[in-house]
Amino acid sequence: MTVLSVRNLETFYGAIMALRGVSIDVDEGEIVTILGANGAGKTTLMKTIAGLMDPEKGAITYKGETIARLAPDRIVAKGISLVPEGREVFPYLTIEENLKLGAFTRHGGQAQDLELVYGYFPILKERRKQAAGFLSGGQQQMLAIGRGLMARPTLMMLDEPSLGLSPLLTQEIFAIIARLNAEQGVTMLLVEQNARIALDTAHTGYVLEMGRIVMSGPSERLKASDDIQEFYLGRT
Ligand code: ATP
Repeated sequence: MTVLSVRNLETFYGAIMALRGVSIDVDEGEIVTILGANGAGKTTLMKTIAGLMDPEKGAITYKGETIARLAPDRIVAKGISLVPEGREVFPYLTIEENLKLGAFTRHGGQAQDLELVYGYFPILKERRKQAAGFLSGGQQQMLAIGRGLMARPTLMMLDEPSLGLSPLLTQEIFAIIARLNAEQGVTMLLVEQNARIALDTAHTGYVLEMGRIVMSGPSERLKASDDIQEFYLGRT
């Protein structure tokens, strides 16, 4: 069943048209990845879905309800959380305080959710009283994902989770993304420059180029495509 449907979305920065009629579908329980070069419009797409930018045209529906132009906190309350590019954790707050901020749209159940997050990221529990600014890049990414989980999302959007991480840490983060999907049933929309690990993890993919979707399909099929191999998987 399709939970998120985006139709003919157009989003601008002033006169710059960053999304030129984007349509995507995300099915319940799936991991969907959006591939694309720098500046293709991936972050803009996530920000528009999250309500951080208003589209000029087009429709966004989540579980059959229109969400385009709703305020970001209303969209979070509907079950969509964004883990932004560059993590954006609050460096002077403790890890636990950062996590609790992720639950701002809800009342109750926080202790249980903290335990769930700590179960996936034991290092965050160990260091829960420390300021988040002291965490390594990989740990900050874990914290950003944990904070996103505290909103009890049914759809989690992750913007470049591998940014700045070593290959080993990237694998660790993606293994957790796959587990959250399989064990908690969280649907995932994943923007990623590392096309190989994104296609290995996702069920379905879209390729965004200059604000337009130019290719889409099951990950296995995309991996077999000559264009994807040449431009995204670095075949020599
Ligand atoms: P990246 O991987 O670098 O984050 P992206 O695919 O996420 O790239 P976007 O950040 O969505 O791309 O940018 C899409 C287009 O919008 C680009 O052409 C970019 O130059 C432009 N753009 C992005 N942010 C702004 C802004 N604040 N003001 C003006 N133009 C912007």
